[in-house]
Amino acid sequence: MPRTTPPRPTDIAASLSALRPLARPATRLHPRPGAPTVHDSSVGGPLLWPADEPWPVCTVPHKRRNGHRIADVRREREILRQAWTKNPRTGPDPEDAALLATFRRGRHAPHLTDTDPVPLLAVAQLYAADVPHLPLAGDTDVLQVLWCPYERHGDRHEVGVHLRWRRSADVRDARGTQPEPPLTDRPGLVPTSCVLHPEPITEYPHWEALPAGLRSRIEQRWDADTYLSHLSTAPGWKVGGHINWRLTGPASLHCDACSAELQPLLTIDAREWDRGSDSWTPAEDAPHARDMGANTPTDIYAGRGQLTIAVCGRNLLHPHRLVSQ
Ligand SMILES: [Zn+2]
Ligand SMILES: [Zn+2]
Repeated sequence: MPRTTPPRPTDIAASLSALRPLARPATRLHPRPGAPTVHDSSVGGPLLWPADEPWPVCTVPHKRRNGHRIADVRREREILRQAWTKNPRTGPDPEDAALLATFRRGRHAPHLTDTDPVPLLAVAQLYAADVPHLPLAGDTDVLQVLWCPYERHGDRHEVGVHLRWRRSADVRDARGTQPEPPLTDRPGLVPTSCVLHPEPITEYPHWEALPAGLRSRIEQRWDADTYLSHLSTAPGWKVGGHINWRLTGPASLHCDACSAELQPLLTIDAREWDRGSDSWTPAEDAPHARDMGANTPTDIYAGRGQLTIAVCGRNLLHPHRLVSQ
């Protein structure tokens, strides 16, 4: 089933031509739980990875012994999903609750030292054929995103993201199973396996990123809240578009290697809609939009909820930056 964003309450660029040059294409990914293969675009699905190519690992120091077992994180979600399906009003019964209480953070990997290489988690795989305007390095046609299951990396204490562009035709013998780390220090970094339903849309800059003159012209007809919530940027996972600078206000983003401006590549969002942004709920999901978990299909909660991977506009292989909102 495709996913369709309802038309915006007003076609703002039609009545305000000064906005048109600031429009950017974005692709809403609309991840939904499913069973993707290596040949599918996915969140949390298996990656098309050559059998003879090492799987990336993290060696940054972390307290690797402690955390949540990733197997427990998955089992807990499955128990909750079944409980809410069985009892849509009350969820887990006492028996479920007793079982859920056994899934605890702990010293579950006593054999690991703080720097043992730990395999990265597969977060997303995007095929160019599925995602219009996907930025591509050279003649590649698929982007793979992985991250470390432990949260803090570098001076900014950010998630450790690893990007890999590849040419799918080069992968003749794909890896059958992929390695997984045993623990995570944040269950929100473990994706639930989802298939994607990409949908191209158009986005406009965040309110505070607009020139002042344009803001006052918008305010003459609509209000800032309407623009922010319903006319500018879409919530949920997306490629491209504009950053919703909801927490920090706009910041300039420049490449550490060449000073070129950085562009949003992929935005990873905890929620695809909520009460403040429900005009973005796809038409197909509207009847069930308030069901438990309907707006959090991937179970990912990274950074402060909305994490954008920004890449150099001149060379995608230059170091990326993360924006957390
Ligand atoms: Zn790490
Ligand atoms: Zn650069």
